[in-house]
Parts: sequence; C-alpha cells; structure tokens
Amino acid sequence: MHTFTVMNTNYDYQRIGAGFAGICMGIKLKQAGFNNFVILERNQQLGGTWYNNHYPGAACDVQSHLYSFSFEPKTDWSRMFGPQKEILQYMEHCCEKYGLTKHFKYNTTVNGATFDDASALWTVSDTNGNTYTAKAVISCSGGLSQPALPNIKGLDTFKGKMFHSAKWDNSYNLKGKTVAVIGTGASAIQIVPAIAPDVKSLLLFQRTPPWIMPKPDREMSSFEKKIFSALPFMQKLFRGWLYWAHELTAMGFVTRPGILKFAQRLSIKHLNKNISDPTLREKLTPKYTMGCKRILISNDYYPALKRNNVQVITEHITEVNEAGVVTNAGTQYAVDAIVLATGFHAADGILAFDIKGKNGVDLNETWRDGAEAYLGTTVAGFPNMFLVVGPNTGLGHSSMILMIEAQVQYIMEAIKAMKNNNWKYVDLKPEAQKQFNTQLQQQLAKTVWQTGGCVSWYQNKSGKNVTLWPSYTFTFKKQTEKFEADKYEVV
Ligand code: NAP
Repeated sequence: MHTFTVMNTNYDYQRIGAGFAGICMGIKLKQAGFNNFVILERNQQLGGTWYNNHYPGAACDVQSHLYSFSFEPKTDWSRMFGPQKEILQYMEHCCEKYGLTKHFKYNTTVNGATFDDASALWTVSDTNGNTYTAKAVISCSGGLSQPALPNIKGLDTFKGKMFHSAKWDNSYNLKGKTVAVIGTGASAIQIVPAIAPDVKSLLLFQRTPPWIMPKPDREMSSFEKKIFSALPFMQKLFRGWLYWAHELTAMGFVTRPGILKFAQRLSIKHLNKNISDPTLREKLTPKYTMGCKRILISNDYYPALKRNNVQVITEHITEVNEAGVVTNAGTQYAVDAIVLATGFHAADGILAFDIKGKNGVDLNETWRDGAEAYLGTTVAGFPNMFLVVGPNTGLGHSSMILMIEAQVQYIMEAIKAMKNNNWKYVDLKPEAQKQFNTQLQQQLAKTVWQTGGCVSWYQNKSGKNVTLWPSYTFTFKKQTEKFEADKYEVV
C-alpha cells in the first residue's frame, strides 16, 4: 500500500497511501475542516494492503470488531475475523460516508518528496512526472507494502508460473497443478488450506515452523448483528472486551513471559491434537520461544498438512531452476507454479521513495543503521513531515487500527497547532528523538522479540528492532494525545 497524503499549497496537506492509515488521516482532516489535500495511491483502487493481499483464504487475524475504526463500527461483520473482501468493502464504505473519494489520486506512485528550506514547502513527485507542492506531507505508505523476494539462486530462471502472495495472479488457475509454496508465515498458513483441495500436489517449503494457536473464528449470528445494530453500547462492550483480552497478551511479550509459556503449552496441544504422525509433528514443532516471531492463529492449517496431496519439506532450498526447486538433499522438485509467501521488507527500507528534509538530508540515508522517529511519527530534520505506521509502531498483540488512530490524533493536534499559531513549520528536536529511542530500545531489549532466539521481520539486518512498539496500546495512546510543542523547533 502506498498512500502519500499531501497537504498542499496547491494542497495544504498531502498524504501518501490509501489503506487504513491514509483513510483514517483523510477522515480526520475532513472532520476538522481541512479539505485541501490529496491522497496519492499507487494502486488503481483504495484498500492498501487489503487490496494487494487478495490471495485465496485472505482474512484478518485480529477480530473485525477490533480491527475497524472506533468511530465507524460495523454491526454486521459476517464472521469474527472478516475476510479480505468484506474488509475492503468496509474501507470503501468509510471513504464514501466521509466524502473522501474525491481526494484520491490513483495509479500514482510517489518517487520523492523534498523540503525547500527557503519556502518551507514540500514538493512531492510521482512516476507519472507530476509534482505537488504542500505545506505538510504525511506518509501512510504502510509497514508491509514492499514484497520481499527470497534470495535464492536461479529464482528468475524458473519457466513455470511464479508470484508473491501479495501479487496473487487470479488469472492463473492452480487446479490440477503441482505447486510449491515457499514460506510458512501468516500469509502461507491462510493460502495453504485454501488451495490444497484444488491443486494436484502441494509442496510446502518450511524453513522455520511457526507457533500456531486455535483461531476463535465463527460466523456472527443474526441475533448478535441485530443486538449490535439496536444497542450500540453492546458492540462497544464487545469491542472493549476484545481490546482488554489483547492487551493482556501484551504482558507476555513485554513483562510477563510466563503468560507465553502457558500459551506455548496450548499451541503444542493444538499441534498434537491435529497431527498424530510423529515425523510431521516433529517437523512442525517450533524451536524458539513463542512470540519471538508473530504468533499465528489457524484451525485449518494443520489439517491441510495431513492431506495426501500435501508434503512439508524441511530440506533447505539451494536453488530454483527451470523445472522447479532443488534442495540441499540433492532432490529436484518439479513444479508448475511457485508461490512466494516470503513476507515483506518491513525493517530494511521502510520507505520506497526518497525523502529529502532540511539541507537536503536524505531520510533513507539517515535510517541506514535502522529507522528512528519520535512516536513513530516525526523525524528530526524533516519539518512538517509525518509518518503513520512509522518506525516502532507495529504490534505483536493487537489491532494496528488502534495505533493508526492514535498517530492520526497526534498529527491532527500538530496540524491544528500550526494553523492556530500560524507556524510555518515544526521540526522535532534531535535530542527529543534520541532520548525517546534510547528508552525505547532499552525496553525492547527485554522483550521476547529480542531474546526469543529467532530471526524475524521485526528486526533489521543488524538485529535492531525497528518495527514494534514495546508496550501496551493505551500507553501509546496516552503519549500521542497531545502535540508537545516544546519537543519541536517551531518556526
Ligand atoms: P512472514 O511472516 O515474514 O513469513 C515469510 C515466510 O517466508 C517465513 O516462513 C520465512 O521463513 C519464509 N522465507 C523467507 N525467505 C525464505 C527463503 N529464502 N527460503 C525459505 N523460506 C523463506 O511473511 P507473511 O506471511 O507475508 O506475513 C508478514 C506479516 O504480514 C505478518 O507477520 C502479519 O503481520 C501480516 N499478515 C497479516 C495477515 C492477516 O491479518 N490476516 C495475513 C498475512 C500477513 P523464516 O521464518 O525462516 O524466516
């Protein structure tokens, strides 16, 4: 997903990306009376990650009543965990309802944003050759928007069909084909059960087995939908219950590892209940501490692996050639298609475009050793530039929409302060950024993400965790409630 919101002088404000972050930002701008903005989106449609990830089986892994805007409850979610199409429809509904549709500029890939010191304006450029001048720029381009292709020798020599999970080719029919799926993360565990009944043979290449918990999914009853519609406070109560249940699990990640030990036992029970073959069970048993990588939830993944036409391969892939996949056991696996469920560039290269701040300083260069921001939202030396889902705002335990709403609240406070005080720009003080990040990394060092004995997309190449918020969502919300002008150089 790529949303750049540009608030302009043409546009006062500019925003990049039309996923949940971009949509939330747009709604809040409009509600506060700011209408002079454009949302630049590289896709032909809104939705961001929920537009890109339309692979078979795609659905939310956080309950939809929590994975939705607090200000726009949907009473009739079909299931506890809404499927991708329904989430996309919800996002479309929000844009229609809040009059956002006219602000989108689709098929627009941002390739740079530059701050001009003299005028204190940003110029954003796109690959179509257009430029947009704006007083402020808000990147809502998402943490999981750049598919990561595996670094496997000969990948480009494969003669069959190959695509990444986030670029699913609906025109290719997998029916009756021999298909290799590489990866066993959150995407793969949804894809495998969805395609296994159709394909002739499915070869699942697993490098690291994930921890998997049962998914408390079910259809929402018509009674529940009626109650939520007639008595909105009942839905609020339900959301509140979901919220606190998720916050409780955060304790396991950051302060009380004992909680995860208990969950680990439940996960093993889930595995043992579903898989009786000792060899397969052993293959699927994780060797790192639960929580170090994202904990997955599924009821149909293990059963799918027991199918006669599914094989879990734990040999290391050494090469891909014209015919398929070769492993370190010297085996050639001939396949018709390869699905790369190999994740995203989340920690390395957070932004896919150049951003140049004061004195031409390059943001990607500044972030070479790891991205840093203040509250994941502002960066010293980049005046009037805001990030939604910036560094260390990801969650291992709850709905990202909570973090998005908190960040948008903070940005709105900043924008309102700028307008009310007639400030030209606000620029985070370097010492504020440093102090915040020193503390953040100290907190992170104690978490299971850093101590759990795994390699995950949460960390960059040097092992620094640049993606996750090491605490509860309510502490983040508290810190983002007000814009603290004293932490900024105000011009
Ligand atoms: P991921 O969790 O990063 O998983 C990538 C998988 O590919 C891992 O199993 C990884 O193995 C494997 N892999 C990568 N390079 C490989 C190579 N060269 N050879 C063999 N295997 C390789 O990616 P993802 O499944 O797309 O999920 C990413 C994130 O997106 C999730 O954690 C979640 O936050 C989000 N997501 C959410 C949903 C949802 O809400 N429903 C669905 C999908 C994704 P290793 O583990 O050994 O590295």
